[in-house]
Amino acid sequence: MDNVLKIHTQHLSQPIFDLVVAFNGAGCQYEVFIFVSLKRVFMKAEIITIGDELLIGQVIDTNSAWMASQLSLIGIDVKQITTIADTRLQILHTLSEAGNRARIVLISGGLGPTSDDITKQTLCEYFDTHLIVDEAALEDITAFFKRRGIPLTELNRKQSEIPAGCIPIPNPVGTARGMWFEKDNTIYISMPGVPFEMKSIMNEYVLPTLRKRFPNTIVIHRTIMTSGLGESFLADRIEKWEKSLPGHIKLAYLPQPGIVRLRLTARGCHEDKLQKEIDTLIESLYGLIPELIFGEDSETLEGVIGELLLSKRQTLATAESCTGGSISQKITSIAGSSAYYKGSVVAYANEIKQKVLHIDRETIIQYGAVSKEVVEKMAHGACSVFDTDWAVSVSGIAGPDGGTEEKPVGTVWIGVAGPDGITAQKFLFGDNRERNITRATVAALQMLRDRILNNKSQIAGH
Ligand code: ATP
Ligand code: MG
Repeated sequence: MDNVLKIHTQHLSQPIFDLVVAFNGAGCQYEVFIFVSLKRVFMKAEIITIGDELLIGQVIDTNSAWMASQLSLIGIDVKQITTIADTRLQILHTLSEAGNRARIVLISGGLGPTSDDITKQTLCEYFDTHLIVDEAALEDITAFFKRRGIPLTELNRKQSEIPAGCIPIPNPVGTARGMWFEKDNTIYISMPGVPFEMKSIMNEYVLPTLRKRFPNTIVIHRTIMTSGLGESFLADRIEKWEKSLPGHIKLAYLPQPGIVRLRLTARGCHEDKLQKEIDTLIESLYGLIPELIFGEDSETLEGVIGELLLSKRQTLATAESCTGGSISQKITSIAGSSAYYKGSVVAYANEIKQKVLHIDRETIIQYGAVSKEVVEKMAHGACSVFDTDWAVSVSGIAGPDGGTEEKPVGTVWIGVAGPDGITAQKFLFGDNRERNITRATVAALQMLRDRILNNKSQIAGH
């Protein structure tokens, strides 16, 4: 049996990605073993967050969400997130399970010097090593406490201990070092639980190092912000476009009250090519739903409105009933809004609608406070009281009480007064008070944006 080529493929729990050629010299017989490491081929990562406080709901695990988002940006997929207690056995078990599945394991929490934080000792056990004093860390900690004028305790000194054999990672904003371990082809990175310390270690060291080590995949995310159409209706409108997306570009719908974010994620090897592909797709999306898109990535309706008003040198006021000031809150959340926003009347009582916004009593009695006529007059009143170019007004039944057959809970009228006239629109939201207020706020901002954008009035820009 000369020159026989045998190929064995194997999936091993702790494999190597190597071609092993066993050469049988005498008979010229080769045995080729391909050990396929799934964890390596697909660059899988897992996250372990450690802390009793996370499991009793006292602290919300924001660390894993942030870490996963950052890994995804450099082309590393997180396949599992596990939250566990500060318990030796659980830590050991979870490290071993995650290590078997993933190429990279990020760990946060439990590095403190107090007795409840046992991650460091347990890492020693897992990696079969012992704690040693990291002299550079001890110097840093001593200096840190000296700067603050606080005496260094034995517990603080323990912060400088690290498992022998790990690579210590500097912590620019705290005393607990991060730690980098490698075992059986898996990288384990342990970081403090305090979010800003973890983020600092990730940004300064972990992400750049992983990026350099695994440079293959480029991932580009682009998010298109839409409002005015619910998720399923939007999906109908863009169905053809969505079906035309190539396999390496994925679309995700991320809905929140009144807004649907469309996130495109492209993966590939050539950044320029990917960028061009995504640009072309987004351009065609703009062509399909121009009236629904108000921005990209972190842009907000209130931010876009602010920019429009600034560029046109126009001003705005609000008159709110059922939203109780929430539109005003959004508008003023934008730094620099004082340049275009003059103020608000929360005209909750009919009496205030009459006294401050000068709506006659008869209009309210004849049409009711939640009506086209009243919101139009509220918007008009706000424009004249505040002497602004624009005003947006809202009156509705947020619930849970106050609905009638004719005007059920969730009925909201929104008015916009501007240089080119007054318009009003009726909306029917649901029966949840909080969501109704949020949706009315978003709808009002959207109406206002559309009006400012489409305003052809000659009076504009005075
Ligand atoms: P330290 O050195 O400050 O003690 P540590 O590594 O021991 O850091 P923990 O004691 O586990 O960290 O957590 C410190 C604080 O960080 C917690 O009180 C909590 O507020 C916050 N924290 C811990 N884990 C998370 C997490 N996964 N998400 C958000 N916050 C967290
Ligand atoms: Mg803890």
